[in-house]
Amino acid sequence: MPSATPAVTPDRLLREEVLALHAYHVPPGNGMVKLDAMENPYPLPPQLREGIARLVADAAINRYPDAGARRLKEKIRAVTGLAQGTELLLGNGSDEIIQLLALALAKPGATLLSVEPSFVMYRMIAAFTGMQYVGVPLTEDFALDLPAMLSAMERHQPALVFLAYPNNPSGNLFDADAIAQIIAAAPGLVVVDEAYYAFASASFIPMLERYPNLLVMRTFSKLGMAGLRLGFLAGSPVWLAQLEKLRLPYNIGVLTQLVAEELLQHHDVLLRQAEQIKQDRIWLYGRLVGTPDVRAYASEANFILFHVAHAGKVFEGLKQRGVLIKNMNGAHTALADCLRVTVGTPEQNERFMVALQESIHQIVLRRNHA
Ligand SMILES: *Cc1c(COP(=O)(O)O)cnc(C)c1O
Repeated sequence: MPSATPAVTPDRLLREEVLALHAYHVPPGNGMVKLDAMENPYPLPPQLREGIARLVADAAINRYPDAGARRLKEKIRAVTGLAQGTELLLGNGSDEIIQLLALALAKPGATLLSVEPSFVMYRMIAAFTGMQYVGVPLTEDFALDLPAMLSAMERHQPALVFLAYPNNPSGNLFDADAIAQIIAAAPGLVVVDEAYYAFASASFIPMLERYPNLLVMRTFSKLGMAGLRLGFLAGSPVWLAQLEKLRLPYNIGVLTQLVAEELLQHHDVLLRQAEQIKQDRIWLYGRLVGTPDVRAYASEANFILFHVAHAGKVFEGLKQRGVLIKNMNGAHTALADCLRVTVGTPEQNERFMVALQESIHQIVLRRNHA
């Protein structure tokens, strides 16, 4: 019998940066009013669902998907209004595209720079692809600190800069002029992440032809296809041809391609839902602003960040009342006592507001009692 080798354990084999990571936590939302993940709350119209059912029934599941996803790319070009000279790369969600960019640019010592607080995957992916990560603090009202950005770029020479536009979790659009200055000064690529484009009043897609080091990333998740997993990167063919080498050939499955083509054929249906969500965002923002002890941040996305005393307790109070939102308290010092709520249907928003008022009230009562 061969002698026993020392136990094979994760901490002996895994890379340190993997051991140090905390997995991205997704709480179960069964049976709750689910306003935590920026999903579109509306189902598709019955006719469209029947069309999708027929497409799925006839799909060639036994065959590999079209690796180039040509038909789907044509549809995306059409609804996005991309110029002829702009190329596209598709990802299994835009998370996969962030990972692909980092893998491609992770030379030893290379830096990924973003702002804080922002989308946590930038830092996580930098960590596990072996890139250095630099997070430049936003100002107190979550605006870009341009001098700080320019000097951090000068010092760290980032290969890759990520700017979420609108930003998650603050919901605001950064100053477009400041972004243009960052793109012009950047020694590497700048990715403007437009995950919330459907709810925002501005975009950098028209700037792609002006800046060869600019890439614009979008996802269809927040528009109503979160379950399909589809995102894209648009930019110069010079860059995208290189990045394409890292894309796994069949990353967009047969069903995703078919269903997304059909949905983009009816893009107007989804855009009308987005329009409704924008209207309801105004209602919800007004209600939050009018709630004592709550400070809400104006949003160009389908969610609203707000500050409330004892946010952790308010969050638990909401959960007890069947409403799940996102607790941002502890995620970053600038987010102390902050919660983030996704805009739902008018009925869900109403239920959220009632539960919020009750939760705050309960805490006030308890404190007066003590
Ligand atoms: C939600 C989100 C994404 C990721 O979306 P996918 O579902 O992976 O396409 C990317 N960036 C930001 C800023 C987001 O909020």
